[in-house]
Amino acid sequence: MEAVIVYCTCPSADVAGRLARALVEERLAACVTCLPGAVSTYRWNDAITVEQEVLLMIKTSTTRHAALQARLVALHPNEVPEVLAVSAHGKCRYTLAGAIRYAQERRAFGKSIAEFGLIQHKLAEMAIRMYANESMAYRLVGHIQDSGQPLMKAGEEFAAECSFLKIFGSETLDYVVDEALQIHGGYGYHQDYPVERAYRDARINRIFEGTNEINRLLATGMLLRRIKKGTLKVDGSSTAANASKLGLFLLNAASKKYGDSIEEQQEVVAGITDVLMNAFALESATLRAKKTKKENAADMTAVFADEILENIKASAKTVLAACSEGPALRSNLSTVDALTEVEPVNSIALRRRIAGRLLQAGKYVV
Ligand SMILES: Cc1cc2nc3c(=O)[nH]c(=O)nc-3n(C[C@H](O)[C@H](O)[C@H](O)COP(=O)(O)OP(=O)(O)OC[C@H]3O[C@@H](n4cnc5c(N)ncnc54)[C@H](O)[C@@H]3O)c2cc1C
Repeated sequence: MEAVIVYCTCPSADVAGRLARALVEERLAACVTCLPGAVSTYRWNDAITVEQEVLLMIKTSTTRHAALQARLVALHPNEVPEVLAVSAHGKCRYTLAGAIRYAQERRAFGKSIAEFGLIQHKLAEMAIRMYANESMAYRLVGHIQDSGQPLMKAGEEFAAECSFLKIFGSETLDYVVDEALQIHGGYGYHQDYPVERAYRDARINRIFEGTNEINRLLATGMLLRRIKKGTLKVDGSSTAANASKLGLFLLNAASKKYGDSIEEQQEVVAGITDVLMNAFALESATLRAKKTKKENAADMTAVFADEILENIKASAKTVLAACSEGPALRSNLSTVDALTEVEPVNSIALRRRIAGRLLQAGKYVV
């Protein structure tokens, strides 16, 4: 059954009066607050009555004070980032479908704006980042399931990946709503169009459930602990595996330079998290493309690799320049170049192909 996540107060015993997160049937949630489409596979438990929907600042429909029968799902803190990334993906799907529809309807200079290269670039780029986010979520859920550990324990083990998902999912959503609004032009700024609300509502995701700054600081520390325990391994020589190796190389260089005071070097720590997170995203997209054998997944992965490796390279250079200098820095930078090498692709042609598939389907497709 499809469900969406809503935020509400509820009268049930241990969370009475406090803001709570609830999974409710999509058909009910649609009349309360959420954009439809945020899918979750969490188990349902206690039935509750949501008496008043009090979503702070996030705009609600006129039915917001209606009593509603819903079911509350208690979430462990480590599950929250993962759920947020999945809910962000649902909102992205809804927003992208609206942008596709609008682009096909709106005419300018004698054609639909969907025919313009720059609009196709936006649509494709939205889908590519969504595909990476979705692939990360599938992979992490798989890791947690395969670990055979109780959910709480597995959540602790994969806490760094949960942070990656929280950051990547919320930033993907911000990107998607921003470009969707741009596709709507002036109408995007108008309250009559759902993209106006999607744009405003998306912003909170980078703030709650641990701000993205705090998640960036936590993730690297958690990975350091796993390295010390010997439970983190990176194998293989693929582009994605090399990007992960680069993240570990940076972690090593920064630990050598700053020792136990590495936590005080927030920009360095956040830069390492970006490299490791983007490497995780690239690896997830690559593995899924191989598994699905779909041409669209392969195209999206190729464009994603092309651009994310540039981001990885830039973050790595910033980190290494804070950890080394002179010949040591030059030698470190040549390692960065070696580990971020990728076969160049014609990303314009690939994005057009991806956009063509989106326009044909009228929605996000893999
Ligand atoms: C709509 C909404 C719903 C919410 N729902 C819930 C909920 O259900 N449960 C709940 O517990 N909370 C909830 N919150 C609270 C939310 O989690 C906090 O707003 C969030 O954690 C940020 O805390 P803060 O607002 O105190 O900002 P601050 O902690 O003051 O942060 C301000 C800025 O400083 C940065 N910053 C803070 N500390 C550091 C640091 N050590 N290093 C570097 N940068 C730092 C932050 O990243 C941020 O950019 C909700 C908030 C909103 C707006």
